[in-house]
Amino acid sequence: MIHVGVNGYGTIGKRVADAVAAQPDMRLIGVAKTRPNFEAEAAVRKGYPLYAAIPERADQFRDAGIDLAGEVEDMVMTADVVVDTTPSGVGAANRDLYERYDTPAILQGGEDADAADVSFNARANFDGTAAADVDVARVVSCNTTGLSRLLAPLVEEYGVEKARVTLVRRGGDPGQTSRGPINDILPDPVTVPSHHGPDVNTIIPDVDIDTLGVKVPATLMHLHSVNVTLEAEPTADEVRDLLDAESRLFLVPEKTGIDGTGKLKEFAMDTGRPRGDLWENCIWEESISTEGSDLYLFQSIHQESDVIPENIDAIRALLDREDRETSMATTDETLGVGLESLFDGQRQRVVPKRNGDD
Ligand code: NAD
Repeated sequence: MIHVGVNGYGTIGKRVADAVAAQPDMRLIGVAKTRPNFEAEAAVRKGYPLYAAIPERADQFRDAGIDLAGEVEDMVMTADVVVDTTPSGVGAANRDLYERYDTPAILQGGEDADAADVSFNARANFDGTAAADVDVARVVSCNTTGLSRLLAPLVEEYGVEKARVTLVRRGGDPGQTSRGPINDILPDPVTVPSHHGPDVNTIIPDVDIDTLGVKVPATLMHLHSVNVTLEAEPTADEVRDLLDAESRLFLVPEKTGIDGTGKLKEFAMDTGRPRGDLWENCIWEESISTEGSDLYLFQSIHQESDVIPENIDAIRALLDREDRETSMATTDETLGVGLESLFDGQRQRVVPKRNGDD
């Protein structure tokens, strides 16, 4: 069993903790929190040992009637690996703590690439990470994860001459009441390219990609408008079949009537997904179009959850416990990744719509 500690129990941390607890080869030894808020109480209800992330605040937990298993250093000392899900910048600062106890660690996408020894995406570089003798890996951000999952099979099957992606990004997560914009559309960053393209290159070094970012008043998901110039001229059907074969890419069938991120999230909740999570890239099947070597599509990324299966695979890769296929299959099966099976036999090929003959 791999003993896993989770440091930082917010949006990503609570999901990683649940995912670790569901793995047959992992044991969640505890989670570290800064404050005795509603998430701390939820962790206690689930039976997760709770550690004080900031020792000076341990009294606050006692005053709130919450029992602590110890301080964060106790957790780090006991763990085989720590998944650090603290806010951007804190993970890099925590590296000293993990090194002090010789505990391998996984950081998140809010950290700069150089805060870790290697950047990670299961589909694109599991094997490279497992082969590297390193102690700290970084699971790349939600957007970079979504782009890497999409580009890896395209690079392998056709070769990619150039990728151009506009990322329409949610202003904040549903619980982030201080984020915005509230009523605006921001080029963000206004400079081109955005950091996402270079970040993809930490995973797939040779792919030529430019990204542009826009921020909108939405909380549910991101939406990517994608144009990839391939080194081949496949039909749209061939690309659909290629993407359909990837377990973490969900092709949203036309007949579902899902026309946007609102209905995608509603659909996730109707299927009983925990927290309405969508671990897969959601690619609108009808949007997959080709014009010669140019591929176009729209995909949506659930920022709060697409990195969760990646964190689980990163644990096995960092400790070199499994090969890619076995790890991804175990993760997918235990979490329930793969919405395709809901539509087996119902999928119909979509005829691209034209604007008539005129
Ligand atoms: P969050 O604010 O929801 O959660 C972070 C948690 O860490 C909070 O509970 C906070 O109290 C706690 N914390 C703060 N300082 C700490 C410390 N010193 N020690 C331990 N815990 C501490 O943040 P999040 O959205 O879960 O983001 C975590 C990381 O994941 C960031 O690097 C972020 O960029 C990345 N990420 C976030 C998203 C997303 O959309 N939310 C998606 C992908 C990656």
